[in-house]
Amino acid sequence: MRRRLSTLLAAIALAMTGLVVLSSTTPANADACYTWSRTLKAGATGADVSQLQIRVAGWAGYRTNMAVDGSYGPQTTTAVKNFQAAYGLSADGVAGPDTFTKLYGLQKDDCSPAHFSWTEVDGGCGVGGYSGGSVSSSTVKANLLRAMWRAEALRHRMGDIPLRVTSGFRSQSCDRSVGGSGTGQHTYGRAIDVVPVNGNTTLCRIAQAARYVSFGTLLGPGYPDHNDHVHVDIRPDRIFWSAPSCGI
Ligand SMILES: [Zn+2]
Repeated sequence: MRRRLSTLLAAIALAMTGLVVLSSTTPANADACYTWSRTLKAGATGADVSQLQIRVAGWAGYRTNMAVDGSYGPQTTTAVKNFQAAYGLSADGVAGPDTFTKLYGLQKDDCSPAHFSWTEVDGGCGVGGYSGGSVSSSTVKANLLRAMWRAEALRHRMGDIPLRVTSGFRSQSCDRSVGGSGTGQHTYGRAIDVVPVNGNTTLCRIAQAARYVSFGTLLGPGYPDHNDHVHVDIRPDRIFWSAPSCGI
């Protein structure tokens, strides 16, 4: 969430010296998770572009599987435009203060998006945590963060209805114990299984909307063992959808 760091700094400076001393590089807004310090647009590269891409990938459009590559290309411009339009901002495809302020408002201090939480996506089988998977704990967390932001886009796209993740990261042993291969996408932190809350929507509506929010893989009703949830994952470089009961 947005924090008024500049106000805080001003207050401290005033209390200590009687003078307001603010660095000219202090951003207008600061955020406990991540703060951008420059406007980003087509052609920009860097870690700050990757941080933006993680958060707007869910707006890249139908049948995309957006790469988080630190390079602000046409896909990023489209995603930023769609994000801006979806949240009532001027849709110019340039990520400046208004876009960053909206993103700050959408994320918690632990960087998870407003409507999904780390405890919702961490280790299954009642264990919690991020260890025992197919990649390091830090990679698992980085992958889960990307999946959660696409889920946030899915939720907003569906009219801000509550959605629930029933399974996110699974250790290899957990994955095997629930009938998985032990090396599937859940063991990378790339996959989440989504269900409606209190009958507010249907699995098919979730599956249909998920085609627009940059999940390359989508498995739902009619696909073997997927009649009680929609599985989406962010494994790179592929589009594979199957939910035959939903016409997908
Ligand atoms: Zn799954």
